[in-house]
Amino acid sequence: MKIGVLALQGDFLEHIQMLQRLGVEAVEVRLPKHLDGLDGLIIPGGESTTIGKLAVDFGLLDPLRQFGQTHAIWGTCAGAILLSKDIHRPQPLLELMDITVQRNAFGRQVNSFEADLDIPELYRFGEQPRPYHAIFIRAPIIESVSGSARVLATLPDGRIVAAQQGHLLATSFHPELTDDTRFHEYFLSLAD
Ligand code: GLN
Repeated sequence: MKIGVLALQGDFLEHIQMLQRLGVEAVEVRLPKHLDGLDGLIIPGGESTTIGKLAVDFGLLDPLRQFGQTHAIWGTCAGAILLSKDIHRPQPLLELMDITVQRNAFGRQVNSFEADLDIPELYRFGEQPRPYHAIFIRAPIIESVSGSARVLATLPDGRIVAAQQGHLLATSFHPELTDDTRFHEYFLSLAD
């Protein structure tokens, strides 16, 4: 399996290391031609405005939209913002998932936090079911899901922090910054 990581800005290297740890070939994607032959793509965390602007500059917006019609894409944090249909402000988006997102929903960088989440889809990975420790950095919230999108994880207060729509995945948090490979394994099962 060969997975691309959008490498315009943000923490793409951490995703690449995680994929390599799982024995998967990982390549950096900066130009449309880099999407050729990939089984899936990860859009990392960073600044969604910067990643979106660079995607426009490098002619990647439409190729990424087309790729997402037929291939697995996972957006973490800023990546989740890019996958969404609506964020209540003008900014380049891929508009692939039927989710609305609010950026910086928890406040500023100092309000970053960690939380244990119960995600049943991850139970089949790892030795026994255990909570998923999630890292939120100036994170967005998924306000609502519609169409065929469904909620994958919420905070204890019910706010949505992960959603899935077929082979498309969005998480408010950063699995690439943990030691826990289960979310990457879950994404690989969608890309397979
Ligand atoms: N606050 C960033 C944005 O709105 C996302 C932060 C992140 O990816 N950790 O794009």
